[in-house]
Amino acid sequence: MSAETFEFQVEARQLLQMMIHSVYSNKDVFLRELVSNASDALDKLRLESLRDDALGADVSDLHVEIEPDATARTLTIRDNGIGMSHEEVVRLIGTIANSGTAKFVHELKEGGGSAENLIGQFGIGFYAAFMVADEVTLLTRRAGEAEGTRWSSSGEGTYTVERVDGAPQGTSVLLHLKPEDAEDQLHDYTSPWRIREIVKRYSDFITWPVRLVDRSAAAAEDAQDSGEDGAEAEPARSEPAEPETLNSMKALWARPRDEVSDDEYHELYKHISHDWTDPLETVRLQAEGTFEYQALLFIPAHAPRDMFMQGYQRGVQLYVKRVFIMDDCEALVPSYLRFVKGVVDAQDLSLNVSREILQQDRQIQLMRRRLAKKIISTVKEMMANSPDRYATFWREFGAVLKEGLLGDADNRDAILAVSSFASTHDPEKPVTLREYVERMPEGQSHVYYLTGDSRSAIENSPHMEAFRAKGVEVLLLTDPVDEVWVEAVPEFEGHALRSVAKGEVDLGSEEERQEAESERGRRQEEYASLLAWMTERLGEQVKEVRLSSRLTVSPACVVSDTHDITPALESMYRAMGQ
Ligand code: ADP
Ligand code: MG
Repeated sequence: MSAETFEFQVEARQLLQMMIHSVYSNKDVFLRELVSNASDALDKLRLESLRDDALGADVSDLHVEIEPDATARTLTIRDNGIGMSHEEVVRLIGTIANSGTAKFVHELKEGGGSAENLIGQFGIGFYAAFMVADEVTLLTRRAGEAEGTRWSSSGEGTYTVERVDGAPQGTSVLLHLKPEDAEDQLHDYTSPWRIREIVKRYSDFITWPVRLVDRSAAAAEDAQDSGEDGAEAEPARSEPAEPETLNSMKALWARPRDEVSDDEYHELYKHISHDWTDPLETVRLQAEGTFEYQALLFIPAHAPRDMFMQGYQRGVQLYVKRVFIMDDCEALVPSYLRFVKGVVDAQDLSLNVSREILQQDRQIQLMRRRLAKKIISTVKEMMANSPDRYATFWREFGAVLKEGLLGDADNRDAILAVSSFASTHDPEKPVTLREYVERMPEGQSHVYYLTGDSRSAIENSPHMEAFRAKGVEVLLLTDPVDEVWVEAVPEFEGHALRSVAKGEVDLGSEEERQEAESERGRRQEEYASLLAWMTERLGEQVKEVRLSSRLTVSPACVVSDTHDITPALESMYRAMGQ
């Protein structure tokens, strides 16, 4: 059967160039990525064979094999997992399907930030093979299909794909290692001890056996044997020595905390999240009793690019008694915590549990609440003990967390307490509501804010004039969600939240206020006919024209009633078709 040649998608080609020229300094991670893919493929096969009796795949010995060949200078990573169809090979390996990644490559080309840094932010998966190989051949057959597919490329612009007979089910990736690494012990990926070391370091927790198949050891033994038997002996075909399992396969979440190093936790995080940077926080929870479960969750150090897009994959995986059940399990954490990654392992669920069942299960709902509380309290600790980490957290995830002010009445106060906001008080540092209230001068009873598209738009708003003149602190809210939650949250510790764009503002002491009030009454009479005339002329467009003490420079501004929606919210509702 003849091979077809395809071109890599533009973004894929750019990414490959970076791999070939190894902008990422730690090349060992290629093995982590390939073992991680193999492990995913084994998970998928196990699940699919549970669901589909007709699949007919042998799942009795699911495993990953790593086979080095020092003479040919190749390394093969093999699994007997789900495999890929011809169409999947072209779609998954030839293109970058993830739009976030494609966008990233664009950004990189536009010259933003160092490549190493940016790669660390999203990982590169299969293409990492090209950090160490100048030729990669992937042979695969999908479970349930008769025909296999061979894919091959040197990473330079094109790849070939051909249909093949007789491929074993699963996937093998054959790397032809770069000659320039041959003399360098650290980069000798045919060395059994290096392979052992790398698997132990990055993939120890993988739940399937990762085996080293060392035919060279067997060949050496054979050579010895045949030497004793005399020169006439048949040159024996090397049977590999008993494969050695390299990983402990221990579920980290089930091990006592003091037995697991931060590094081990971080490697699990990287496997689950496909992220190459360490997480910001690790959160553990063990629940005993009627509904037993273990949770090992992570707060990443940076927001995924598609967090606000439809179809965003949440990162929490569900296991039942150490067996992987599903990715992206939305029943386990509320949507406003969708940036959290990790594993929940429940003891008392059926292996066949479905998403629908999970959504309705009371125990799962309780678990979800408990996990949400635990995550919020972790943020609180971060806020108290590591302000820098908290600042990173807030910059990356604040806009998502604030969605919880709307949807999660139970945790509203807790979320408010760990939230911070840009403020006129300090142009550099966001402030908390607590700090705001503590700074409030005698006579001020409300927390003032203004929403808008950007800090500068808000600062230039005429609504700000009186507040600036009086030196009253105003929170500057610029996330889209701010428009909505401020409507849902009436107060903080007894202090009403008030938009400076709405209704009456009271600034200053009781006396000042009374004086201003009577002054305004006097002037209202004085200008009564002008105001009546303006109200009439503006007709339907306004409810009322009145004198204001809120302006110091601008001649006029439009304000909403205290209970009216703000202009931005109005346009948002309009956009939503309401
Ligand atoms: P990711 O693992 O983040 O999805 P990769 O670049 O590592 O990205 O892999 C791309 C896709 O190729 C995977 O999502 C999977 O569908 C497919 N794939 C890669 N390796 C294997 C494998 N060993 N078996 C089956 N499918 C694989
Ligand atoms: Mg991968």
